[in-house]
Amino acid sequence: MEVREKLREMGVVGAGGAGFPTYAKLKQGGIDYYIANGAECEPLLDVSKEIMARFPDKVLKGLNHLKNYTGANNAVIALKGKYKNALKALNNNLVNKGFDIKLFEMGDFFPAGDEQVMVHDITGRVVPEGGIPLLVGAIVNNIETLYNVYNAIEENIPVTDKFITVGGDVKNPITLKVPVGTQIGWLLDFLGVDYKNKVIIDGGPMMGNISDPTSPITKLTGGLLIFSKQHPAVTVKESSLEYIFKMARIACIQCRYCTEQCPRYLLGHDLQPSKIMLTVGFRLTNNYIKQALLCCECGVCEAYSCPQQLSPRRVNIAIKKELAQAGVKYITEKVDFTPSEARDWRKIPTGRLKTRLQLTEFDRPALLVDGDFVKPPEVCIPTKQHTGAPAVPVARPGDKVQRGQIIGKVSEDKLGCHIHASIDGTVTYSDKDKIIIRGEES
Ligand code: SF4
Ligand code: SF4
Repeated sequence: MEVREKLREMGVVGAGGAGFPTYAKLKQGGIDYYIANGAECEPLLDVSKEIMARFPDKVLKGLNHLKNYTGANNAVIALKGKYKNALKALNNNLVNKGFDIKLFEMGDFFPAGDEQVMVHDITGRVVPEGGIPLLVGAIVNNIETLYNVYNAIEENIPVTDKFITVGGDVKNPITLKVPVGTQIGWLLDFLGVDYKNKVIIDGGPMMGNISDPTSPITKLTGGLLIFSKQHPAVTVKESSLEYIFKMARIACIQCRYCTEQCPRYLLGHDLQPSKIMLTVGFRLTNNYIKQALLCCECGVCEAYSCPQQLSPRRVNIAIKKELAQAGVKYITEKVDFTPSEARDWRKIPTGRLKTRLQLTEFDRPALLVDGDFVKPPEVCIPTKQHTGAPAVPVARPGDKVQRGQIIGKVSEDKLGCHIHASIDGTVTYSDKDKIIIRGEES
């Protein structure tokens, strides 16, 4: 089976971000850089660095397959210089196995893992506004995605599990592998994590969203962080949108700190969150509103820059949603982008970010405990865990299914990936949104 077809069949999607199907990123010819994103710049999450340290061979082989398939001139794994275990493990394998892959050591700043920041730091090229790395001859995948690529191509193993870190205000942070569809509340109970009267964040403290115990783990879950309701990583996420907009009008002092520290603005993109805040606050003009489409939602403005505890990030997310519904796209004629000379010294040191967000006390290693020891009695698998069309269920209530079996398909003319049973069991429910499997052992 051809590589693209294989990845589609095996359900490989970006394991971070929006879950763009990996096969659809691949292009043969014209690729200068195939980049593995191992920066993992969100505080308290350890998935990428643990996978690199524990499974360097799989990551390198996954990357090598895609380098060869696309014909990329260079393959690079970008990770922070402080990830000593991962660096050592990758270097040992590079020496022993002779892959033509380079390691690129990044500084400890946020957001080192923003793919446009990373592409610029490695290639010296700026991805155009509203564009993708392919436009400057680069493709970027995250580390777990490459692990899944290896599994799909060499082992014929589809994506049935997700590596996640469970951390924050917990006794023992851990990174582990969890079947897709596992209920979050069940998992936390299984791990003995006290989450009652606390808040669960799906993802990191900067870009993650508040989740609830009844939601399932998906192919996109980056981690589960537990915090008290009063914790600063939580409060801004809990504010209503109405309150966020009201405060933009009342309290924005137009200091421009959000703009001057915005990583996309610093790359030369025309994104000025301070102007967007002025626009939504006073409805002076709509000229700046479309700039929200250039926001990568990194959270620098919200968690670090704004002296008034405002959230340009959430304002941008709300505007993006409205513009998407209206079918508005960001179109620019601009071709030259000049990064700010101040860019290097405006990068946010991760240590300062952790102090600002009061995360230091929770900053402990979440080592990976490998194995298939998480066995939920039931899984609820969403049909849409990727960019594109949802999978259409092919498994019906009453069907016996095996772990790894296809239970939902996306037709070939649509963007999307098949989904698979993550446990052995019997389908008890299926509709256009989800498929529920009751485990054999329950
Ligand atoms: S979240 Fe804020 S800092 Fe980050 S890209 Fe968007 S506007 Fe810029
Ligand atoms: S940093 Fe805050 S107060 Fe300053 S311009 Fe931006 S939103 Fe307004």
